Formats: sequence, structure tokens, C-alpha cells
Amino acid sequence: MAAARTLRIGLIPGDGIGREVIPAGRRILESLPSSLNLKFNFVDLEAGYDTFKKTGTALPDKTVETLKKECDGALFGAVSSPSTKVAGYSSPIVALRKKLDLYANVRPVKTTLGSSNGNPIDLVIVRENTEDLYVKEEKTYEGPDGKVAEAIKRISERASSRISTIAGEIALRRQKIRSAAPTSIRDQPMVTITHKSNVLSQTDGLFRETARKALAADKFSSVLVEEQIVDSMVYKLFRQPEYYDVIVAPNLYGDILSDGAAALVGSLGLVPSANVGDNFAIGEPCHGSAPDIEGQNIANPIATLRSVALMLEFLGEEAAAAKIYAAVDGNLDAAKFLSPDMGGKATTTEVLDDVLKRL
Ligand code: ATP
Ligand code: MG
Repeated sequence: MAAARTLRIGLIPGDGIGREVIPAGRRILESLPSSLNLKFNFVDLEAGYDTFKKTGTALPDKTVETLKKECDGALFGAVSSPSTKVAGYSSPIVALRKKLDLYANVRPVKTTLGSSNGNPIDLVIVRENTEDLYVKEEKTYEGPDGKVAEAIKRISERASSRISTIAGEIALRRQKIRSAAPTSIRDQPMVTITHKSNVLSQTDGLFRETARKALAADKFSSVLVEEQIVDSMVYKLFRQPEYYDVIVAPNLYGDILSDGAAALVGSLGLVPSANVGDNFAIGEPCHGSAPDIEGQNIANPIATLRSVALMLEFLGEEAAAAKIYAAVDGNLDAAKFLSPDMGGKATTTEVLDDVLKRL
């Protein structure tokens, strides 16, 4: 038998329910069947608002250095954002994305319950995460008729190309994982390029053209590539979400589409995400620190468990990821151990135990 692969995983619980769901993420990794031949070394790391209050920084250098030097991937819980601006505080996950060049934000949206048309939703939004309007180059000046404000929308060939390539790779991989446990009506991988190049012919035009080029590569010959103007994308995403497979978009459209798509599945407690670069992936549930339910052992751990699987996919461990996805779907389908956000009565621990039993 080949030597076991050891993955080194940084654990950053952050604030609030992050401290309840990240331990669940660790448990599921520890409970993977030994036949997968995987081992894990865990490193506990700090970041977040509580860390800021304690140490004066929300993202200690030690956390960044350890992730860079000692880890293959990480799990990030949540950070609470103070309701009014606090001097010196800024979001540690935004900083981490920059420092580790995690240029893709990946958000799968999946329901086993069926959309309005009765078909399950199983799509993923791949959002470019380094440029577009988020370069935050803004200025305000006095025009002839009063104040005017402007922002730069920057789109580069390099960023558009790498995000499209990762979208194509995700489409191929999803097809592989799906064929193991078919749930979708779609039998061919598909990438939908989203843009507004009818209006923004240069910026979105470059994104569209570059995405087309990247997805025309030989390795994507089995992938159906289509495109959709972002406004009609929103319309169709809400009318017919089961139609989509992988949606790739520049930063701002991706941001809006991701939150919109998350609303399709009912609870924030179900939706995972990953921040992905060329050599690193951080799994992160989409929800925040949820101070209203903190410390009660009722947070839904599913978003985190799915984020663990997503991280494993990007670390090349598809078989392990598929096992976790199947166990989670099993829990949701059986609907016996559901947390309160899903209309159930189960605690975080009970939901986790049920998923672990199904692993
Ligand atoms: P933050 O400032 O950290 O974003 P928030 O108050 O916006 O905190 P969110 O975490 O964004 O809270 O959650 C919004 C709502 O969804 C809250 O009512 C929260 O309880 C609920 N919620 C979020 N995540 C979960 C979860 N994992 N399980 C159950 N309910 C959740
Ligand atoms: Mg929030």
C-alpha cells in the first residue's frame, strides 16, 4: 500500500459560531475512512475581532507565516464585523486572500429538495477576487454641477484567464464527482461566462474574450461554454436555477450572484465557499459569526462540512470530498437530524454525529 498522504491544515475558528463549526470540520476530517489513506496534521491559528481586541491586530503575522510555511490548506470560521467602524480593524479574510493570492472565490449552491421546477439545484459560482471595481481606486471632485465621484473598474487578461481556467477545471471535476452519485439533470459539464460587454465593451469585453480563449483549450473540449449578460443571468438564475452548472464572473457580478444564489437554498447554514489560489485553498462557510445563536450548540455545521469537502477538492482529494458531500446529502435527505435554521430540533453535535455515521 502506498504511504499515506499527510495534509497540514490550519484551523482558524475566528469569532462567534466559528468556534462551534470549525471543530466539526476537524472532526469530519479525522473521521474519514482509513481506506482513503489520508492523514491530517492540524495547526490552531488565530484571527478575528476577538483577536484584534486582545492583540491589536485581526490577523497576526504568525497566522499568515504558518499558513504560508507549514500548511497545505485551511479552514476559516467567521469573523464578526463591528457595526461601526473601529480604528485599525480590517477584515482578516480579505487580507488573507491578498497575502496568499487566493484569486478565486468559489461558492457551490446545492439543494437536494428541488427547485420550483422540482429539479435539484446544483451550481457553483466562481468569482474573480482580485480586481474589477474592488481595486478601490476612487476619487471625488467638484464638477461644474456639483460633486462627482468615480471608481476604476480594472480587468486584466491574466486575472480573467486564470479565473476562467479554474472554472473549467471545476466543471470537469464536478462532472467526475457527480457521476459517482448522479443528482443533476445535466450530463455535460458547462461553464456560463457572465459579463456586460454590450455596455462595457472594453473591460467586460476583455473578460469575455479572454474567458472564451481560456475555455477553448483542448482540455476543456468536453465542456459546453456559453455566455450570458449579467442582468438576464440574474433573471434566469432565479427562474431556472437547475439549468446552471458553473458560472464564472468578474468580481462585482460574482459578489452579487453569489449572495443571490445562496438565497435559493433556504439557510445560510448550508452554503460553503472556498478561497482558492494556485497552491492553497481555504474552506470557509458563507455565513457570519451569528452572535444571536452563539454558544448554544445550535449552529448548523453543514456549511462548514461542505467547505471542508470543497477544500479537499482543491487539494486534489476528490474521493474524500465526494464521501463528505454524500454523507451531508444523506443527512439532509433523511431530514431526521436537522438544526433549528432548517426547521429541525437537532443540535450542532447531533447533526455532525448523523453525518459522521453516514461517512
Ligand atoms: P456577522 O456580522 O458576523 O456577519 P451577522 O449578525 O450578520 O454576523 P450572520 O452570520 O451573517 O450574522 O447570520 C445571519 C442570520 O443567519 C443570523 O440570524 C444567524 O443566526 C443565521 N445563521 C447564520 N449562520 C448560521 C448557521 N450556521 N446555523 C444557523 N443559523 C445561522
Ligand atoms: Mg452577516
